[in-house]
Amino acid sequence: MAFKPANNIQDLQYFGEFGGVNPSISDSSTYTFLSAKTMFDTFEGNADGCYLYSRHSSPSNLYLGEALAAMEGTETANVSASGMGAITPVLLQLCNAGDHIISSRTIYGGTYAFLKNFTPKFSIKTFFVDITKLDIVEAAITKNTKLIYCESVSNPLLELADIAGLSEIAKKYNLKLVVDNTFSPLSISPAILGADIVVHSLTKFINGSSDTVGGVICASQEFINDLRNVNNGASMLLGSTMDSLRAASILKNLRTLHIRMQQHSKNALFLAEKFEEDGLKTVYPGLKSHPSHNLFKSMMNEQYGFGGMLTIDVGSLDKANELMEMMQNKNLGYLAVSLGFYKTLFSAPGSSTSSEIPEDEQKEMGLSDGLIRFSIGLDADIDRTYQMMRTCMEELNILKGNNKFQYV
Ligand SMILES: *Cc1c(COP(=O)(O)O)cnc(C)c1O
Repeated sequence: MAFKPANNIQDLQYFGEFGGVNPSISDSSTYTFLSAKTMFDTFEGNADGCYLYSRHSSPSNLYLGEALAAMEGTETANVSASGMGAITPVLLQLCNAGDHIISSRTIYGGTYAFLKNFTPKFSIKTFFVDITKLDIVEAAITKNTKLIYCESVSNPLLELADIAGLSEIAKKYNLKLVVDNTFSPLSISPAILGADIVVHSLTKFINGSSDTVGGVICASQEFINDLRNVNNGASMLLGSTMDSLRAASILKNLRTLHIRMQQHSKNALFLAEKFEEDGLKTVYPGLKSHPSHNLFKSMMNEQYGFGGMLTIDVGSLDKANELMEMMQNKNLGYLAVSLGFYKTLFSAPGSSTSSEIPEDEQKEMGLSDGLIRFSIGLDADIDRTYQMMRTCMEELNILKGNNKFQYV
């Protein structure tokens, strides 16, 4: 039977302290022990089920972590204060001075900056490659390589990682495969396809209300225990802990993720098809023209669609800025970074979320000035949205010269 990540969340059952249908929130940073010996055992890591201090773990964070582990099909998970607070401890836990990382070159700007500018001071070197070419990935492996890092669907170019193929390479050379699944929750299940560690920024689709930052690491019990180790665990020692109140609110939002993803995907596919018909250079994994359309189909949990992210190229940064301002004035969405909100969000990645990437490298990877990244919202009438967007584009002459009427 196919893996059903949303059902795995829905099938969890836990009650609050007084029989509430939601688990009680543990509003405490520290916990009492009935005996001094149990406190000692907990420090030694030998007292299952006992709480020590909330930077280590707390009941509310464990509830959210277990729900996300069920969604990704991993043994367990550790939630964190942000997506970067999930990604950075994973990389620092796995790598020592002198180790190498192979990373996709099209990744979130913050992750790119961390690997390019921050980890070299610990003598950790990253080789950035075109992750869609498995032979190039394999050729970049050295005796010092510890891990392969990629995003299932990359930010902002929406390139696809062949997770099963990368997992085979990782296993052959005894490397860990770390996958950031922020752009494709529920649609793609990287751990089921062979990833060792799956990370998310919960800030985006999973929380879905743009009111908090958060992150998660989904992995084996052994790796999560390592991260939480009081003596040498990167999550414990770097301290990017999520607050219990936030964990409780994200857990409540997680329960509607499957419905939201279906609507995001449905709306994004509708717009992508229309934009492409209009002659706009449109990138969306659900379009047959996407170079990895078939790969996405082979990896996806079909009912959640191809996701809510799409890009169009309107030729220049000036045009992109004009269009985004006009769409915002007509209340078609917000000119804002981030993704996964109920409203459509749009930004020009070259000058915002990917500005950490030097201009020449942006060009090389195909990140052009006129690129607009859309996180498509939950609009009930997406055809009306499309008609209004099209009017904006006509007013700005963006469709001129490549209007579909010119082709018939
Ligand atoms: C936003 C984002 C991150 C970083 O997450 P924060 O919650 O902002 O720390 C990492 N990866 C991807 C793909 C993202 O979109």
